[in-house]
Amino acid sequence: MNAPEQPSEEPVIDLGSDAYFMGEALRQASRAYEAGEVPVGAVVVRGGRIIARAHNQVECLRDATAHAEMLALTQAQEAVGDWRLTDCTLYVTKEPCPMCAGAVVHVRCERVVFGVPDPKGGAAGGAMNLLQFPTLNHRCAITPGVRSEESRQMLRAFFAEQRQRRELERAQEKASGDGPAGDDTDDPGSDAAEGGAFLSP
Ligand SMILES: [Zn+2]
Repeated sequence: MNAPEQPSEEPVIDLGSDAYFMGEALRQASRAYEAGEVPVGAVVVRGGRIIARAHNQVECLRDATAHAEMLALTQAQEAVGDWRLTDCTLYVTKEPCPMCAGAVVHVRCERVVFGVPDPKGGAAGGAMNLLQFPTLNHRCAITPGVRSEESRQMLRAFFAEQRQRRELERAQEKASGDGPAGDDTDDPGSDAAEGGAFLSP
């Protein structure tokens, strides 16, 4: 019987690949999930090294601008010692919103790699494309859809959990008789709205 040529512990993932770095961004996203934040994570890579990692912290910092990308870009600027991130790649688990895409253009980031697309609010080609806007002074390369299913599953699970918690709270209010009058009908519209917001932290 021939022994296999390749040892079984041979790494399957290329440590310099987009899939690998997206894995690090996904790890950040799960930290956000655990903290009760919309699960989005980001890392910044320069010369094959991660120089910044961050997750969404809007609730914790009570700051609507505390998206994973914004926090990661700020960290990266500190690491580089310059506001220009011309040789950096941003990995983020969800397509960036217009605010973050604007920041990406301002720091002159070379490339953005994202996971799940956001056709309603995404600014990297989903709803609009600010990363390659013809009249802006910087355009960056875009690699969409890297490990998007993992990111999508995490967002779905998060919002399903939140919905369940709200329904439970509503049921408890009703049971204790404290519920507002006329609250005994379910509003299907609110669920639809939540579903629409599922990609817009
Ligand atoms: Zn954003």
